[in-house]
Amino acid sequence: MDIQHLLCDRTRDLKVSGIRRILELGTKLDDPINLSIGQPDFRVPDAIKQAAIDAITNDRNGYTLTQGIPELRSRIESHLTHDLGWSFGNDGDPEVMLTSGTSGALVLAFLALMGPGDEIIIPDPYFVMYPQLAAIFGGRAVRCETYPDFRMTAERLAPLITERTKAVLFNSPSNPTGVVSTRQECEDILRLCRERGVLLISDEIYDAFTFSDGLTDTMANAPHTPVCPSPARHDPRAGEDVLVIRGFGKSYGITGWRMGYAAGPKALIAEMSKAQMYTFVCPPSIAQWGSLAAMDADISAHVAEYESRRDMVVDVLGRVAKLPTPGGAFYAFVEIPESLGLTGTEFCERAIERNVLTIPGGVFSDRDTHIRLSFATRRDKLEQGIHILAEMLEGK
Ligand code: PMP
Repeated sequence: MDIQHLLCDRTRDLKVSGIRRILELGTKLDDPINLSIGQPDFRVPDAIKQAAIDAITNDRNGYTLTQGIPELRSRIESHLTHDLGWSFGNDGDPEVMLTSGTSGALVLAFLALMGPGDEIIIPDPYFVMYPQLAAIFGGRAVRCETYPDFRMTAERLAPLITERTKAVLFNSPSNPTGVVSTRQECEDILRLCRERGVLLISDEIYDAFTFSDGLTDTMANAPHTPVCPSPARHDPRAGEDVLVIRGFGKSYGITGWRMGYAAGPKALIAEMSKAQMYTFVCPPSIAQWGSLAAMDADISAHVAEYESRRDMVVDVLGRVAKLPTPGGAFYAFVEIPESLGLTGTEFCERAIERNVLTIPGGVFSDRDTHIRLSFATRRDKLEQGIHILAEMLEGK
């Protein structure tokens, strides 16, 4: 049978990620210094593991409600009431649904919003999934250029909004740059989106990994708790205009469990739930119970460790190249000095020859002038890796 003949353009036109080429080259290495990985390297807290084991043992293995188990949804609602100052349960209030990973929430949001010809504005550089999802649904991801400081601002966004724009997709702390937006930037972007009648989607998957200097806001109902600024915390009605997407995978080291959630306008969550009913059905049941336990876990020691690794990366690489100081997440986005005459991809290929795996900036952007490295890697390996990269950046 000619399978090629049967395939449709939707997937055929998807660009295979440039990460694959790097990882293929990396598989030839014995014991590489792997700075390409986007998942935490700490042990998952035992209480979280036990909760998932208990769910299996106690026969919680069947389908759950489409939107997820009520226990976890209501736990998230209390958290968001505290954190964002939102209220739930009354007419016009936002709603929460559980999803299969943060990606699941993104897919459902795109399903509900994007039709042929529709536009969504994304930052450039971006998380790899954003432009591909827009393409899958026949829409267009309009890039908001953020070089060289990697700040998505209302000023940069305003000229890109057209009558076809459905949403602005905002991501702070950012993958791949680690940049954290300020409270003022968040407020300005929300104001702009409200004025122009477009939804603001805030991908906050790394919110738990915000470092002390990025914590420039406080929880709406806990004014002594510093947090990462979010446009969703702008005012108590923000839930009418912002779709917040957060995840459990990165925060608790359970990326493979595929758990995330979306919170926002009731009418949108209703459409996303319908879409979930006919696609994912529900998020994994045992992972939902594990995630409920995760909400009580304290990961502050891990975040502090990542902050100290961030300091080391900025200290070593900041002497030989330009990079924004990451205020959160666990990535650094380093510019390849022009004097080297190398693209990000060429630099990464040379780094592989020296046993270090990083990702070319061109994977996350229309430009290929940087590399992304992850500091979610054992400290001794990270130290070795960044010293090799520093030598290379100096042209040695
Ligand atoms: N958004 C961003 C910005 C990400 O970096 C990632 C994962 N790398 C995701 C969403 C998807 O995460 P998940 O594994 O929860 O689907």
